[in-house]
Amino acid sequence: MSETSKSRAARLPHLRRETLRKGDPVPLPLTMAAMFHVPGDPTGFSQYGRFTNPTWDAVEKLLSHLEGATAVAFPSGMAAISAVFFGLLKSGDKVLLPADGYYTTRVLADRFLTPMGIAAETRPTATFLDGGFAGYRLVFVETPANPGLDICDIAAVASEARAAGAITVADNTTMTPYGQRPLDLGIDALVAADTKAPNGHSDTLFGHVASRDPAIIEAVTDWRKLAGGIPGPFEAWLVHRGLETLELRFDRMCASAELIARRLREHAAVRAVRYPGLEDDPAHNLARAQMERFGFLVGLTLGSMDRAEAFIDQCALIQPATSFGGVHTSAERRARWGDAVDPGFVRLSVGCEPVEELWGAIEAALEAAGQ
Ligand SMILES: *Cc1c(COP(=O)(O)O)cnc(C)c1O
Repeated sequence: MSETSKSRAARLPHLRRETLRKGDPVPLPLTMAAMFHVPGDPTGFSQYGRFTNPTWDAVEKLLSHLEGATAVAFPSGMAAISAVFFGLLKSGDKVLLPADGYYTTRVLADRFLTPMGIAAETRPTATFLDGGFAGYRLVFVETPANPGLDICDIAAVASEARAAGAITVADNTTMTPYGQRPLDLGIDALVAADTKAPNGHSDTLFGHVASRDPAIIEAVTDWRKLAGGIPGPFEAWLVHRGLETLELRFDRMCASAELIARRLREHAAVRAVRYPGLEDDPAHNLARAQMERFGFLVGLTLGSMDRAEAFIDQCALIQPATSFGGVHTSAERRARWGDAVDPGFVRLSVGCEPVEELWGAIEAALEAAGQ
């Protein structure tokens, strides 16, 4: 029987058991080590803290289990994306990025790839297939795109880009392995910021690359070892702990987001709602076809910048903050970073609070912010 999200979630907290000897601690020990005891022939052992660490191995084991692919841990989402770019690209290559995805990915390309002779072009997520993929070495998708929540057809991008000779990469941060499975849809490499829902407690940055292609795994692992952008063992330990409750948190967050999106759509103060789970969302049919859940991010547009700021600041159960995916609901007005969205557009990251209490606080803040 093939693995489902539920069977992966059920087995995850028991994976360590097969490695335990009698008397070992059941929870994961934290190994803080730059040096290891390696007399004589060092092959086959932990040698040095920039090459390996037992706590990384443990978190990579959980991530590999969830992805159904080899996972390599990084100190942040951007470190994972950098490993893919710098590990796989060379001068003369051309990359295609989403115009409406996480903006730092585009800034990284402009600031560091372009001067190395790697051209970067962009395309809106909603029409990502238009124009084909001829001439690109690497095609990068992010769906739903953060923050606008447009969607592209992952399987179609994967097969058309592969036919054109490109490597395909998907940033799956907004969905997690429980919400969407780009590798199963034909994507070559997945990147994700575990800073968000996988760690879930807003206290560490982390990321990973996952792939079923050994050449991609070798390239990003070599990049990590040689460039030295390695995860800290304590951060790996925190993410390992976070992953043990990801399925529970993600399930609550997605269910609450779905309910809240429906109620927001009915509310007089809200001009527009983007949520892939709403039947009339432009991305709904595609979302139903390729996503396991509709996610915990909701885009809502209020009448003005001031109303949006007032709503965020006055809601007792919303933490005003950039970033998302924590146990606490958070929100921000994305235009403050220069994203191409309406000034009244709010990205709401629904957390783990009991949903009726959360909705009560959201409704009160909408009333207070006015129409
Ligand atoms: C946050 C985020 C990143 C970057 O992650 P960091 O851990 O902050 O480096 C990359 N992609 C998406 C979609 C994100 O939301």
